Amino acid sequence: MDVTYLPHAVGNGAEIRADCRVHGLERDREGRITGVVYRHRGTDRRQRCAAVFLCAGAVETPRLLLNLGLANGSGQVGRNYMGHVATQVWGTFEPEIRMNRGYPSSLISEDMVRPKEADFAGGYLMQSLGVEPLTWGNSVARGRGLWGRALTDYLTRYNHVAGIGINGETLPCDANVLALSDETDAFGLRKARIDFGYSTNETRLDAHATRTMVAIWEAAGASDVWVLPRVAHTIGTCRMGRDGDSAVVDPVGRSFEIPNLWISDGSTFPSSLAANPALTIMALALRSAEAFLGAH
Ligand SMILES: Cc1cc2nc3c(=O)[nH]c(=O)nc-3n(C[C@H](O)[C@H](O)[C@H](O)COP(=O)(O)OP(=O)(O)OC[C@H]3O[C@@H](n4cnc5c(N)ncnc54)[C@H](O)[C@@H]3O)c2cc1C
Repeated sequence: MDVTYLPHAVGNGAEIRADCRVHGLERDREGRITGVVYRHRGTDRRQRCAAVFLCAGAVETPRLLLNLGLANGSGQVGRNYMGHVATQVWGTFEPEIRMNRGYPSSLISEDMVRPKEADFAGGYLMQSLGVEPLTWGNSVARGRGLWGRALTDYLTRYNHVAGIGINGETLPCDANVLALSDETDAFGLRKARIDFGYSTNETRLDAHATRTMVAIWEAAGASDVWVLPRVAHTIGTCRMGRDGDSAVVDPVGRSFEIPNLWISDGSTFPSSLAANPALTIMALALRSAEAFLGAH
């Protein structure tokens, strides 16, 4: 059997390497995918396959499907684009902190995953931060609006600053969507255009989290406390569900519309969760693999 995994595809004795870009999927009369077209060092090649695992992430997976007009009978490809509310609060401490030592998110609290008496749905986890100097410099320039001498003066505090941040749920909604722009890439495929913003729920969650984190830092003795608004992670756009009218893939990641197409990446999340996404993506990949192997 030929099985094609993207971006690392193996089948027919050939291997699609990570530096290859897939830009086409061929189908037979029944609509099953029969081959993957990719460009390697300027040459288009074709990989015949019996099944495809599309794992290009929550931006590139829907972009490819939308460009090729595939697997979108539900109209849900590109919809429900989500991120995490990822606001950070920073403060300066008298003793040395040295955030570059140790594991960045070494302290995680789930006390606010479903906070009591909240005026919003969902919740957030809080985690300690450890940020390398360059990343931190970017954050300071953006978050505090510092530049030049004022920026470098502040950056000399590196060993005395500490940050706390969140992963807050964003809710799936119609307004947050990935569509195709009019601009095209080197393959002539249309680029992604993403509309994303906070609704009332995310705004309230963010306000609650900011109040909580500022209070924690003040109680810990921090001075010069400031807030960095952020969004992290790309989630959603090919949601998983039980019904092909409202979802792109079934609970094991198989396309409702194209039986030999499987999607295995952050695009299949129907909701954003409050956790970092990688472990869930891996768990879902294992579930898909078990279902695929069981079916063949
Ligand atoms: C700086 C940073 C820090 C993060 N920290 C954490 C963390 O601590 N914990 C956590 O859980 N998550 C973290 N994340 C998020 C996590 O990395 C992502 O959620 C996760 O990698 C998404 O997995 P994925 O399989 O959906 O997509 P990806 O990991 O993005 O994989 C998609 C792959 O497909 C390839 N691809 C795309 N299009 C094509 C194409 N047309 N042809 C061929 N190949 C293609 C891409 O090159 C890429 O290799 C972090 C992300 C970033 C950027």
